[in-house]
Amino acid sequence: MSGRFEARGDVGILWIDNPPVNAISQSVRVALLDGLKQAESHGAIKAVVIACAGRTFMAGADITEFSGPPRSPGLPEVIDALDAFSKPVVAAIHGTAFGGGFEVALACDHRVALGNAQVGLPEVKLGILPGAGGTQRLPRLVGIEPALQAMISGDPIPVPVARDMGAIDKIVDGDLTEAAVAFAREKIGSPRRRVRDLTLAPDAVPAGFFDAARQRTAKEKRNLFSPQRIIDAVEAAATLPFDQGIQRERDLFIECARNSQAQALQHVFFAERQVAKIPGLPADVKPRSIKSVAIIGAGTMGGGIAMNFANAGIPVTLLEVNQEGLDRGLGVIRKNYEATAAKGRLTAEQVETRMGLIKPALSYDALADADLIIEAVFETLEVKKKVFETLDRVARKGAILASNTSYLSIDTIAGYTSRPADVLGMHFFSPANVMKLLEIVRGARTAPDVLATALDVAKRIKKVGVVAGNCHGFIGNRMLEGYMREGSLLVLEGATPQQVDQALVKFGMPMGVLQMGDLAGLDIGYKSRKDRDPGTFEVKAGAVADKLVEMGRLGQKTQAGYYDYQAGQRTPIPSDVVARVIEETAAGYGIQRREISEQEILERCFLAMVNIGCEVLREGIAYRASDIDIVYLYGYGFPAHRGGPMFWAEHELGLPQALEKIREYGRKHGTRWWTPSPLLERLVAEGKGFAQAL
Ligand code: NAD
Repeated sequence: MSGRFEARGDVGILWIDNPPVNAISQSVRVALLDGLKQAESHGAIKAVVIACAGRTFMAGADITEFSGPPRSPGLPEVIDALDAFSKPVVAAIHGTAFGGGFEVALACDHRVALGNAQVGLPEVKLGILPGAGGTQRLPRLVGIEPALQAMISGDPIPVPVARDMGAIDKIVDGDLTEAAVAFAREKIGSPRRRVRDLTLAPDAVPAGFFDAARQRTAKEKRNLFSPQRIIDAVEAAATLPFDQGIQRERDLFIECARNSQAQALQHVFFAERQVAKIPGLPADVKPRSIKSVAIIGAGTMGGGIAMNFANAGIPVTLLEVNQEGLDRGLGVIRKNYEATAAKGRLTAEQVETRMGLIKPALSYDALADADLIIEAVFETLEVKKKVFETLDRVARKGAILASNTSYLSIDTIAGYTSRPADVLGMHFFSPANVMKLLEIVRGARTAPDVLATALDVAKRIKKVGVVAGNCHGFIGNRMLEGYMREGSLLVLEGATPQQVDQALVKFGMPMGVLQMGDLAGLDIGYKSRKDRDPGTFEVKAGAVADKLVEMGRLGQKTQAGYYDYQAGQRTPIPSDVVARVIEETAAGYGIQRREISEQEILERCFLAMVNIGCEVLREGIAYRASDIDIVYLYGYGFPAHRGGPMFWAEHELGLPQALEKIREYGRKHGTRWWTPSPLLERLVAEGKGFAQAL
């Protein structure tokens, strides 16, 4: 049983007990209905408190029920029973009251809560909307605008804020149950104060409010389906009688639940929870204690990485080759913090505290006590070799030695030390203080507790850690090579850079692949192509970029790359010069330029990536296809509402179609880059999906 009824004098407590988070499973819904029945018929009970055992109030729906057929009774039925109940009801909130949990609380007459609790309606994050009256009750309780904002952001609302909004009646300091019972006792004899009966003031909605909200949301939540439906539901709350509003909410909920975005976002939700489960890593492996960190190199990445630790309150030493490098690096960090402070998201004092946690250094002596050292120097093996040989001499025994390398072999780097078990990759994404991904590269000899520590560190600095095996480019950059190759080839074959980029942006990417090259700097690819064996990559794909670099067009930093840029601006402006370079280069290869469709752009860019993803999976570089999706969502801005590249291939395109397309491009463009991964062939032959890949 997930609930029990307790009579405390004239107040009944309806206890919910469904560890660990009191998810509103079928058994909880049954318990709520039973409890209400008992309380209704119990003559001595004059008011009721809904309270939860354990560490939290009902934290939300039981998401494992999402995939199966609906199980009766549904939450709306429970809420209807609460509406029909005759005695005052008070919700006693501790921990988190999210989603359905908050909707239950909203169907009570009053809400009392501990000050450190949180409430919220996060359904939007799963591609749906509050479907148990939340869209109709919250606006009546707190007003149209704050309610809409809460549901469109889906963010947790701290109880003090919720109290100021009018969603919480009382903040309790001390025994929550006692306080809730006392509160309920005060209401005995009063008529019920149901939220559904509250009326909005006639001037609650300024003229044009919903149109403006739709436009703003279309920009802020680009391409997303459910935020617009939330606006529709709140408009219904403002314009329709309650029961009609509820019906509208139900219809809109079903529309959202049936939309492919809901499936994709729920995939992301589960994928994120899976990612930290590492096959073969025993659960009892204890992470090493990390109290201080050192970063080598205060460039683009080193500075951002240092900020992550300072933000988490962990002292960090930042080492550079000379004072100038240090000053430049620290200057950028300060500028970043001050920009955040200017937006009101940090106080001046917090800026100083964080800067104070970053200790500049020019000598390796300063690293002798660090528990974790992350190298972020230039991307060449010679420089990395010197650094790791030195670290081997100066780092304390048991310190973890990590490299932020983008492509180089972690095993080679580990081999520069006498302690390869302590070495691994910690690959951050640019800007390192913003992007949520941390690719953790497990070397052949990395010790289990070192891996466990990196996963733990990722959590502490609020990143999502994804474990990858060691190969050129690991998961993310190895797949990116296919994406960039096809983007560049499409340009040679007849598409303009803006056509390619616009197709990708329309799909949902934050920027196109050529814009991304301009942002990172075209010289990076140029240098790596010069260092690589031309037999290992598609030389033709780099030909335009090579010419642009040789013309001094390095990307945004020189205000010219694939596009032109105005000083200080990031808006790409098509360039005639580049158009000529493209035409000349294509002519040089004897390419007949042709019309290229948007569909071809998407298929070639993403299928090239997915086919490599299948190889990454087959080789065990990634443990799960869903890990690859997480890498792309948090490292490269792949749109969450499409679930990630592997989810897209499986669920939007279908694996048989993906395979057929790869074969078709192989027939047209040669099989050098378009040979289907044997894993993909096998899955299609066996009628399986990525979840059954291994
Ligand atoms: P960067 O050129 O901006 O910075 C490198 C810094 O390291 C410079 O400030 C340099 O002075 C310093 N440095 C060089 N040798 C040093 C030494 N021996 N001791 C101390 N400091 C030294 O380069 P970056 O973009 O920050 O890249 C650093 C590493 O991170 C590379 O391995 C790169 O592949 C990787 N990476 C870069 C990105 C990116 O988008 N820029 C993303 C992920 C990973």
